[in-house]
Amino acid sequence: MAKRVAVLSASCSAVAVTVVVLLVAKMACVGCPAPLRSTLFLVATLGGAASTACVAFVTWLVVHRVLTRPLRRLVASARAAAGGKEVGFMGNLGRRADELGDLSRSFHKLCAEIADLAVTVIDTDRELAQARHELKLKQAIAVLFELTQKINAESDLDAILRAIPRKVAPAMGFEEMAILLRDDRTGKLVVKATYGFGDGEEIEGTTFAPGEGISGLVSESGEPIVINDTRTDPRYMHYKGKHLTDGSLACVPMEVMGRTIGVFNVLRPGAGGFSDQDVSLVRSLASYTALAISHAQKNLRLRDLAVTDELTGVANRRLLMQRLSCEVERARRSGKPLSLLMVDLDHFKRINDEHGHLKGDQVLKAVAAALTTSVRRSDTVARYGGEEFVVLLPDAGKRQAVACAEKLRLAVAEPNAAGIELSVSIGVATLPEDAHHEDDLLDAADRALLFSKRNGRNRVVSYEASRSLRLGA
Ligand code: GH3
Ligand code: MG
Ligand code: MG
Repeated sequence: MAKRVAVLSASCSAVAVTVVVLLVAKMACVGCPAPLRSTLFLVATLGGAASTACVAFVTWLVVHRVLTRPLRRLVASARAAAGGKEVGFMGNLGRRADELGDLSRSFHKLCAEIADLAVTVIDTDRELAQARHELKLKQAIAVLFELTQKINAESDLDAILRAIPRKVAPAMGFEEMAILLRDDRTGKLVVKATYGFGDGEEIEGTTFAPGEGISGLVSESGEPIVINDTRTDPRYMHYKGKHLTDGSLACVPMEVMGRTIGVFNVLRPGAGGFSDQDVSLVRSLASYTALAISHAQKNLRLRDLAVTDELTGVANRRLLMQRLSCEVERARRSGKPLSLLMVDLDHFKRINDEHGHLKGDQVLKAVAAALTTSVRRSDTVARYGGEEFVVLLPDAGKRQAVACAEKLRLAVAEPNAAGIELSVSIGVATLPEDAHHEDDLLDAADRALLFSKRNGRNRVVSYEASRSLRLGA
């Protein structure tokens, strides 16, 4: 457009100059002889043509410098601004005192205001994303906090662990999640809890040695690994072939005081599912989970210590009395039987005397192990006194209890870690037929035991048999 104006202005000026020169030449020729007139006219025409060219050039130059060039600069700046680039002050255009100067200054100001606005919008977006991130984290931590509160009420850490991904993953928008803990005995990571895995994908219990798979690598190095596409990373083992769906994976360590206690895996369908912000969120969550788990482990260890016999690892007398009270109550309510075995090592004093106290301790450990491995998980084995153990058998009637006692007697007689031949005497009592209260039940089993001792040891005697035998005697 400016070009056209320049050309038009130059053409108009040239035409006007030509006309003026010709008119002046015509007027100058009036009264001149014919040959001189034609010479004058030729000179005027040539001069007119030359001045026309000069005027046209000067006009074009002025229009180009004053209008075309500044306008082009303005258009270029507008394009740059539209493309999101920074706009300079357009040379001396901004210093001009005419309309174009005004226009350029206004344009520059507008660009600066738009830039300010864009920065404000970007800041607001960033703050919003940050706020969302923090909110999500707070929600997840609130869930974890609620779960850790339960630790005082529940003694099963595995149950609490299983609840963590079930509660946290939906709150955080994670499609699949797994918690792996390091087993201090084997040094291997074990999948303890999962969320979102498909039917038939039973990955709980899967183990990874240090350095094995992504989880093993993370637990070894303590550094998180993010895989954008599990199809293309040979280190990913698909949970040893048990989880074949591909996608993206964020695996971060769970650390307590610089020690990796496990890893935290979050999986997403589709490639590139984790932004840097997602990874930092997963890391914060993993740290908090690690603290919660370690706190739970310590609590449970303390509680275990308070109710466990230090030497043998079985329940101590305090836990036995609690369990006995609960089981008696339960048996009364349900009408089911409850049996109690009183187990005493035969001639244990002799073992101490002949092999020393330390060997005696080994014998006690071996007996506790034999008893524990021979009963069900729902039964209780407790150290009642020096070389006396009590075994509680909920839901077991007299016949079952006597059979169980016989099994225990034979188990103790098997070769053991202490390398000493052993035998035990066992008294059996059952609620409700032999007793109605916990003290009576203990007393009845003790009487039966005494009877066993008096009748040659290394035998099982039930309370009713001891009574009839005594009556018969
Ligand atoms: P019986 O066949 O009549 O039961 O004879 P016993 O020798 O087994 O029974 P007694 O009551 O005479 O002796 C029990 C011994 O158990 C005496 C005690 O020193 C020993 N003892 C108790 N507690 C411990 C312990 O923690 N470690 C060791 N090594 N010995 C213990
Ligand atoms: Mg004894
Ligand atoms: Mg004894």
